[in-house]
Formats: sequence, C-alpha cells, structure tokens
Amino acid sequence: SGDWVQVCANKGAILGWGHYSPNASIAVRMLSFDEQLPDDAWWQHKIAQAVEVRKALDLVGNEDQNACRIVHAEGDGMPGLIADLYGTVLVVQCHTPGMHRTLPTLIEAFKLALGDGLSGIYDKSAKTLAKNGGEASTDGWVWGLAPEQPVATELGHRFLIDWERGQKTGFFLDQRVNRDLLGKYSVGKKVLNVFSYTGGFSIYAIKAGATEVHSLDSSRRALDVCEDNVKLNGLDVDKHRTIQEDALEFLKGDTLGDYDIVVLDPPAFAKRASARHAAVQGYKRINLRALEGMKPGSLLFTFSCSQAVDDALFSNTVIAAAIQAQRTVRILHRLHQPPDHPVSAFHPEGSYLKGLVLRVD
Ligand code: SAH
Repeated sequence: SGDWVQVCANKGAILGWGHYSPNASIAVRMLSFDEQLPDDAWWQHKIAQAVEVRKALDLVGNEDQNACRIVHAEGDGMPGLIADLYGTVLVVQCHTPGMHRTLPTLIEAFKLALGDGLSGIYDKSAKTLAKNGGEASTDGWVWGLAPEQPVATELGHRFLIDWERGQKTGFFLDQRVNRDLLGKYSVGKKVLNVFSYTGGFSIYAIKAGATEVHSLDSSRRALDVCEDNVKLNGLDVDKHRTIQEDALEFLKGDTLGDYDIVVLDPPAFAKRASARHAAVQGYKRINLRALEGMKPGSLLFTFSCSQAVDDALFSNTVIAAAIQAQRTVRILHRLHQPPDHPVSAFHPEGSYLKGLVLRVD
C-alpha cells in the first residue's frame, strides 16, 4: 500500500508509474506516463506548474484575494492530492497512502514554489486516508506555524477558516465565481442561502446590497462562524439571520415565497456511481420543493457537487422538477467550477461542480 507501481503493456513496454492502493476502487493512480520513476525534481516541476496557473489568474498573494486551490488532484496531474491556500497557510489533503508518503517531498516543493508566500502547512488527511484504506494518520502542522488570525480573503470578502474542525480543508473555494454572480443579482433583494456552511454566498449577497439574508444549515458550528464572518466584513448584523434546521424540513414549510433569491448548494449526494439513483431523487426532491414554493419572478441558484451526476443528468433532473411543479422556468446561467479547479482533458470526471440559475415564473 502506497508503493510506486510500474505499469507495463502486455509486451513489456513501460506505460508509466502510479501509486498503489490495494483497498481502494482504483488500484493504481497513474502519476507519470514516462519510463522514469518520478523523483524530487519531477514533483517540484509539477507543483511549480500548478502554482504558476494560479498566479496567472491573480489568485495568490493579494491582500484582497489570497485564497484558492493550488493543487486539484487529476486536474493538475496529481491524483490523490488536494492543496488549498488560505493566505500563507496551505492545507493539504491526501486521498491515497502513496501521496501521503510523498508529503515530505511535497512540502519542500511547495516551499520552493511559494517562497515567502508560505508560512505553514497543515495536513488534513486523516479522514480522507481512512476512507481509502490508508494507514492511520493524525491531522496537524507538518511545517511552519499556525497564523495568529486564520482569515483568508476571496475577491475582497473576508472569511474565518477553521482548517482543524471545519469541513474539507476548512472552506469551499470552488464557489468563488458563482458567489460573485449571486452578489450582482442581490442588490435590494431578500436572499435565502440553504446549505450555507460558513456563509460564503451570504457574505457576498449582504456586501453587494441585499436587504436581508438568511443562512440555513444543520451545523450550529458552521452558522456560528457564519455570524462571525458577517462581523468580520463589517456588515450590518441586522440584515442577517441564521436558521439551524434540516434543509428538507425547512423547504416543506411555507416561507419560501418570502424570498427573491434562493441558493441551494447541498453536500455531494452521490460520492460514487452506485449512489447515483438515490442522489438524483435527492436533487429532484429539494429542487421540486423550492420551485413549488418560490414566488413568481424569483431566482433559484441550484448546485450539485456530485461527481457521479453529470451536467446533463443534473440539468434534466431540475427540469423534471420544474415540470412537476408546473412552473415556467428559464435558465439564465449554467455554472461550473472555477479555473483553480481545472479538469484534465483526459479525466472529464474531474468536472464535478455544476449549477443553474433559474428564473421562476
Ligand atoms: N454553500 C456552502 C457550502 C455548502 S457545504 C459554501 O458556499 O461554503 C454543505 C453544507 O450542508 C454543510 O455546511 C452541511 O453542514 C450542510 N448540510 C448537510 N446536510 C444538511 C441538511 N440535511 N440540512 C441542512 N444542512 C445540511
């Protein structure tokens, strides 16, 4: 487990090298398609390329924009590795034992590529490794120190990042562009943010000029951070309210008609292909409830981050919900993940985030 494996064609030609995971659904994750076994210089080159892509997008090291994904697994040719940068703190999440074993090499490569822009590296792999049959690991600092203030900025919006106790690496960086779009529609509107987590969408909406924003999540901890984020951005706390409730229960109620905009950004309903049917029903259910209850002229921002549910299936599921709800619905935008979450042309499955903005009449 975690060893390098040389992969050969039936006549012996070397096809490349990958990390072995005997207990995972993918036994070997291919890293290189060369004859040479990847060495430290190979990793340094890969990481440097990944950082270069984000720097070209102006996502790194600005006061107003310093949080982004630095390594997006297959999308950056490094299956099994996620690395998110929050200011000068990098949170890494290894999904395979092989990648976790490479961590010392990766740390050196990140230090080289980010230079002064890096002050600490936090390893958040315990959960993801356990899920993939990896050896026990505990989360913690593997280089440098925790900063005094765990704050990151996204397009001028400030967020508290709890990499230790928060979900994933602490924040959902894949919605930056879509949050910005919500902001543009929010001026003078009343917004409901369902599955809000720490309020990514909510902060953009209030800052842009929404009259009122309600953030709904089942996690009290996430909502507490959400409230702190409203204050951190110097926003009017009277314009914001948190609702701790199960989303489906709330959507069954009769208050949806009060809102001009509703955001639905649920957790992944299907983590693997076998769960696809149940996931489709889940998406249909929440979108149907929303479409039945929303007022004419309102907007629905609806998302799916399930890799096993592709663009067409998600879109058809939402359309089926609209047919059942007997509403006239127009698609204003088709949304995706931003370019710091790139998709390898040879791994289209990496395109996992999709969203629709619907006008409901
Ligand atoms: N929109 C967020 C990310 C959402 S992550 C952002 O932009 O940052 C999904 C969130 O759904 C998590 O915060 C999780 O606590 C919440 N959640 C999961 N199941 C839920 C349920 N049944 N009802 C309400 N919230 C739920």
